[in-house]
Amino acid sequence: MSNVKYKRVLLKLSGEALAGDQGQGINPPEIHEVAKDIKQVYELGVQIAIVVGGGNMWRGEAGAKIGMERAQADYIGMLGTVMNALALQDALEAVGVPTRVQTSIEMRQIAEPYIRRKAIRHLEKNRIVIFAAGTGSPYFSTDTTAALRASEINAEVILMAKNGVDGIYDSDPNKNPDAKKYSKLTHMDIIQKGLRVMDSTASTLSMDNDIDLVVFNMNEHGNIKKVVEGQEIGTTVEG
Ligand code: UDP
Repeated sequence: MSNVKYKRVLLKLSGEALAGDQGQGINPPEIHEVAKDIKQVYELGVQIAIVVGGGNMWRGEAGAKIGMERAQADYIGMLGTVMNALALQDALEAVGVPTRVQTSIEMRQIAEPYIRRKAIRHLEKNRIVIFAAGTGSPYFSTDTTAALRASEINAEVILMAKNGVDGIYDSDPNKNPDAKKYSKLTHMDIIQKGLRVMDSTASTLSMDNDIDLVVFNMNEHGNIKKVVEGQEIGTTVEG
């Protein structure tokens, strides 16, 4: 294996990463670009698992705010992540990368059910595993799913790809021109300072299980590869 910092990574892609300019729906040309970026990392020999979000389709919390029962709204959100996973699988296979989708809610006609040991076996056989349907339970997020699956498969790090933000700041850089970017933080810093990186469940799970996190900008092509090669382009969260 060539010069890489990590041998097994969990890439968290938000639903927005698969959407077009409006941040909604599935945009195949956009996903093709994402797939090419992932392929660069795959070609380094790195084992890659991916958790996809679903915010480009539906967020349970938003549905609940306008009158739906929260759990029901969350199940719709989880189904959204499955659509994204299938689109990502299509794009990755179109650029020649073998993949498997595993879902936390069984739907055997289109994907495998989530089986931890089988997921690890796929990684060892150099297949990218895409985890869909979140944790399978309402009231959670796909960030929490990323922390959970990363722990389960012994990933060294969660690569948290953001859209247009190149790391963690002390305030929103889109609103505050003086916002300061952190290069290194701990999970406890994030919790104590109330930084909006992941939800608190995802942060505490990552902290308790010693999962490192790198937050970086996905919009610049080649960035996933740079992070895997150890270039410090975003914010690293350790400990
Ligand atoms: N969701 C859920 N349980 C999970 C993961 C996701 O109920 O374990 C639902 C929840 O409604 C959430 C939606 O799926 O709003 C989409 O996931 P998320 O908001 O994490 O996607 P992202 O922001 O990463 O695109």
